Amino acid sequence: MNTEKVKAYAAQSATAALAPHGIVRREPGPTDVKIEIRYCGVCHSDLHFARNEWGFTQYPAVPGHEIIGRVTAVGPGVKKFKVGELVGVGCLVDSCGTCPDCHAGFEQFCTGMVMTYGSEDKRLGGGTLGGYSQSIVVTENFVLRIPANLNPAAAAPLLCAGITTYSPLRHWKVGPGQKVGIVGLGGLGHMAVKFARAFGAHAVLFTTSPGKASDALRLGAHEVVVSKDEKQMAAQAGSFDFILDAVSAQHDINAYLNLLKRDGNLTLVGAPEKPLAVAAFPLIFRRRSFSGSLIGGLPETQEMLDFCGRHNITCDIEMIRMDQINEAYERMLKSDVKYRFVIDMASLK
Ligand code: NAP
Ligand code: ZN
Repeated sequence: MNTEKVKAYAAQSATAALAPHGIVRREPGPTDVKIEIRYCGVCHSDLHFARNEWGFTQYPAVPGHEIIGRVTAVGPGVKKFKVGELVGVGCLVDSCGTCPDCHAGFEQFCTGMVMTYGSEDKRLGGGTLGGYSQSIVVTENFVLRIPANLNPAAAAPLLCAGITTYSPLRHWKVGPGQKVGIVGLGGLGHMAVKFARAFGAHAVLFTTSPGKASDALRLGAHEVVVSKDEKQMAAQAGSFDFILDAVSAQHDINAYLNLLKRDGNLTLVGAPEKPLAVAAFPLIFRRRSFSGSLIGGLPETQEMLDFCGRHNITCDIEMIRMDQINEAYERMLKSDVKYRFVIDMASLK
């Protein structure tokens, strides 16, 4: 197989800082699209993965799954994309294509799904390598169209933070007349606030950072609750139809289950390193439910991007150079992100 060497940033171990590293990409096959990466968002999952907090990282690890770039080459069988087009790639780059989940457009639940980073690369060997790199080659079915009216850098985090919050809000039919809680104002949380508002729900943001209150209101929240304040929490008891938890670290989930109405649901999208303790009583009283959600399939990701195009929704970003990535991770751990770092990939050249 023909390959090309490109520049990237990688972690070589769970404790190493990310640093320049050469990687290999395949030349486009018949149905492949080659993309020169312009922008890549920085997800907290990138940090969990680089530091092996989920226990499956292979090194060298190249994170990045919020990719926007230009098509620079297409295989002869590619029908949907042309050279020069602006496109996106999210958390998935392939799946089996034949199982019931794939047929239903839920590629994220296919047992053969290939993640943008952290999966086995069956063609080149080793692990798949993500968007902290100059280019990527992806089969056309996993490439997304980016609405032309959206700022490309601010659209990049839609590919993960956007779809991960859009999908559960749609699944649980969040809309007018409902009270919806969002826990954590980070990359995911700030997009959940925007979507909950756009879907017509009453949106309440829970934060551990009192300084983020005015931003939360500007982003679309109707109310802000400082979760460390017991009085403010007690005032919200039993009042929510739905709560989306987008917290990256250990926290008390029961405090939020107690805020749900009868039959209310709390969906977890945050993926902390350690298990969360769930008490029985907050669940069994009022028949509440607790569930999870993983990104979104390709059809829904395109639907979300088109929705953002129509409603002019993008992410609030802070642009960084590739060599600022380690500093960005440290700020992310301090909840000091407003509200997504995006790497200007031109800085890698
Ligand atoms: P992020 O930008 O770092 O935001 C996380 C937010 O959680 C922080 O800004 C902070 O908000 C809050 N937080 C952090 N530590 C906390 C603590 N100890 N107690 C309470 N709140 C705390 O992260 P992200 O990129 O949005 O990702 C969030 C989580 O979702 C990560 O675990 C990530 O891996 C996961 N994720 C899951 C999926 C999926 O498909 N399910 C997809 C992408 C990411 P405040 O300052 O407002 O409290
Ligand atoms: Zn992500």
